[in-house]
Formats: sequence, C-alpha cells, structure tokens
Amino acid sequence: MAHRQEHVEFRQNLLHWFDENARDLPWRQTRDPYAIWVSETMLQQTRVAVVIDYYTRFMARFPTLASLAQADETEVLALWSGLGYYRRARALHESARAVIAEGAGEIPKTAAALSRLPGVGVYTAAAVASIAFGEPVAAVDGNVERVLTRYFGHEPVPGVARSGELRRAAEHLVDPERPGDFNQAMMELGATVCLPRVPMCLACPVREGCATRGEHAVPRTKKMLSRKTALALVQRREWPKAEVLLQRRPPDAGQMPNMWELPSVKEGQESEDMLLLTVRHSITNTNYYVTVYGLNMNEQKILARGPGERAWVPLMDLPELPLTGLTRKILKRLRVMPGYSGGRPALTLDELTPDSAKEFAAAGVQR
Ligand code: SF4
Repeated sequence: MAHRQEHVEFRQNLLHWFDENARDLPWRQTRDPYAIWVSETMLQQTRVAVVIDYYTRFMARFPTLASLAQADETEVLALWSGLGYYRRARALHESARAVIAEGAGEIPKTAAALSRLPGVGVYTAAAVASIAFGEPVAAVDGNVERVLTRYFGHEPVPGVARSGELRRAAEHLVDPERPGDFNQAMMELGATVCLPRVPMCLACPVREGCATRGEHAVPRTKKMLSRKTALALVQRREWPKAEVLLQRRPPDAGQMPNMWELPSVKEGQESEDMLLLTVRHSITNTNYYVTVYGLNMNEQKILARGPGERAWVPLMDLPELPLTGLTRKILKRLRVMPGYSGGRPALTLDELTPDSAKEFAAAGVQR
C-alpha cells in the first residue's frame, strides 16, 4: 500500500464499518485510562466473551487505580483465577502500586512511558495510549497481525517473524484523528470477520484492497504435548463446615506462585474405585489429562508431598482464594465450588463419595 490515498480509503472503510458494527462492550463505555488498561491486560491471549465477566467483577471490586494498589495480591489473584496467565495480574498490580507511589496516581499518557511500567508490553502500551489518550500509535496483537498478513498477501517464511514489518505497516495505516477507534476496529475485524478459519470476506470493509481474500498459508505449528497427572479431592466435616484439602505453590515456583491447587497422588497408588472424573486442561503447548480421585481422611498417605504448604479450606471460602485455573475447573465440574453469591454448593463433598453413582448421574457429572 504505497499510496497515501489507499491509506485514507482503508481508514475510512474500516472506521465506517466499526461505527456501524462495534460490539457494545463494558470497557467501551468509558474513557477512564485505568479501566481501559485493565481491559487490555485481560484481553491479551483471551477471548472477549471470557473477559466480560472477569472485567465486570474486577472493576466492581477495584474501581480505581488506588483501590487496586492498596489491595492484597491474594485478592487480586482470586479475582483473576481461571483467566490464566497470572503474570498479567501480578504485573498490573505492581504497576498500579508504582504509578501511585511514583507518579502521584497519574497514569502515563504515552506508549513509550507506559511501556516502562512493570509487565506492560508494546501492545498494551499502544492500546492504552491510543484509546485513552488519543496517541496515534498502532496496537498490533495476533488478530491485527492476521488481518495485515492477509491484506498485504505476505507469504509465511519458516522461522521468520514478520511482527516488525507488520508493525511498521500498521503505524502508517493508523488514523491520526481516531487512533483508539482505529486500533479497536482492527482488533474487532480480526476477532469477528477476518477469522483464523473461514474468514467472512464478503462482509469485510477492506475487501477491495485485500491481496488474499481468504485463509492464508501459515507455518506449521508446534505439536501439542500430552501429560497425565493424578490429583486428589480430600474432604472432611459436614456442610456448612465442609472443607477441602488444598496446597499452595511456593512463592518461588516458576509457574503460578502462591496459587492454590489440589494435592497430587503418588504415582501408581490410585485405584479405580476412587475415580471421580477426568478432565483435559490445556496450558500453552501441553494438554494435561487429569484424573481426579476422591479420598477419605484415612487415605491421605497416598498423597505426594509437594513443596508448598497445605491447608484445609472451607468450601465457602473457595471463591475468594487464588485457585489455579485447573483447580477451579475441577471444583466447579464436581459442583464443590459454591457460587459467587455464596450459599450451598450443588453437591457437598459427602455426596461426592466415589460410590455415590446416583448423585453423579443426577448432577450430570461424567465419571
Ligand atoms: S478480505 Fe477476507 S482475508 Fe482480506 S482482510 Fe478481509 S476478511 Fe481478511
């Protein structure tokens, strides 16, 4: 796209389409830089449909930068639990504290200054600077890279990242008058029209100039790895005092430090009659096939001794705890987790004893 006129037409067509088709999302109803920062942090690697509930709960609990800065990390992680990529939450929390301590609570207004905050990458800095402060910088995430790759008709070159080239192209395209809307429109186009598989080219506002008009060739992705693991659900006491045994990852753990999870079972010690359910859980390039066994108090000797502390946690407290995404998924599927409004879980742990097949069937839990 060598000509200025083509840039102008691209912007006009894209922004006109966005004005007509933009989804009504909670973070689009505000110009508050803090709210936009939270939303853009949550949206990294995560679908809009998943983010909406997390964003709404997070903003209800931490409506201002100061309230987030004052919060305990445990509470921040608890509200992030299930959203994944927990480094984002820690970095956001750390940055909020830095802005309050060093910047008198004023969020930096340029992408260059924002990217100096802990954990704020090039994409988030550009998104916040353009949407909240109107700086004409391009925000290029995976969706935008896909749109640009197809639009320009780039061929994939194995082992060569085109990010720099695409970013420079995007910087030329970004609308100087409405940079925030332009960036959101590009992301929206990638998320709703220029889809990874079967793009809807007939509905695309920039179809005229697109060199691909369909799916583009992509380099072969890395094969997913598979891992098996066995976890235990151990119970004690009756509802409403029922408790579950959890263990906390050590503060220096390489992944998800300080987050709570179910303890592991020693290899080869489990038996079929303890089986509660099996779940698949994907983290980056690994599929975990996780078998969950229900143990009674006398069977704790088959638990593997991990490095973290263990604690009995009342079921009522589970929603307030920073659980790993896998743990949250298991406790919800087993109906052990009470709702966010509190109250009795659908099934108590006593009802989840391995031989209570009727309760499982009634609850729709697959064994
Ligand atoms: S025409 Fe199709 S491939 Fe090209 S940008 Fe639009 S949706 Fe994507």
